[in-house]
Amino acid sequence: MAEMTGQCLCGAMTYELAAAPQRVTICYCRFCQRATGSTQAVLPVLPLADLSVSGEERVHRHVSKGSGKEVHIHFCAACGTNVYVSYERWPGMVGLFAGTLDGPVSLDPATTKQIFVSSARPGTVIAAGIPAFWEHAATLDGAAEEPFVLEVATVVEGLRRG
Ligand SMILES: [Zn+2]
Ligand SMILES: [Zn+2]
Repeated sequence: MAEMTGQCLCGAMTYELAAAPQRVTICYCRFCQRATGSTQAVLPVLPLADLSVSGEERVHRHVSKGSGKEVHIHFCAACGTNVYVSYERWPGMVGLFAGTLDGPVSLDPATTKQIFVSSARPGTVIAAGIPAFWEHAATLDGAAEEPFVLEVATVVEGLRRG
């Protein structure tokens, strides 16, 4: 039985997850702003093997300015809702656009991170208690970056790097 389900706005594209996502990435980068039409993307991350999609999807291929690698947005052929992303950089993994899930997403601080805080728009609120990174959580060669954790939710104007 499916662990979790979701769908696009019109319902032509649906999906089931074989297991609940282990991690969630909240991303404030310009790519995610444009892909969502909002201030940030909330992306539960899971193995592609755990995602089973029904209905016709289309794919937009975007080359990341940072890494030069392709990011693929999978969207409903009928209504255009962006449903999930896959990554040349992390083959076999996908990120769901969380708003397409039928049920709620758990933002457990132990398994959730915030990235690209440096790209957040003025007025965006960065969540408290969830590890945050100015850009990626790791360098291009895979070395881990050090996160910071806000004690109170903070509007971007109030943040200073370093
Ligand atoms: Zn649709
Ligand atoms: Zn992003």
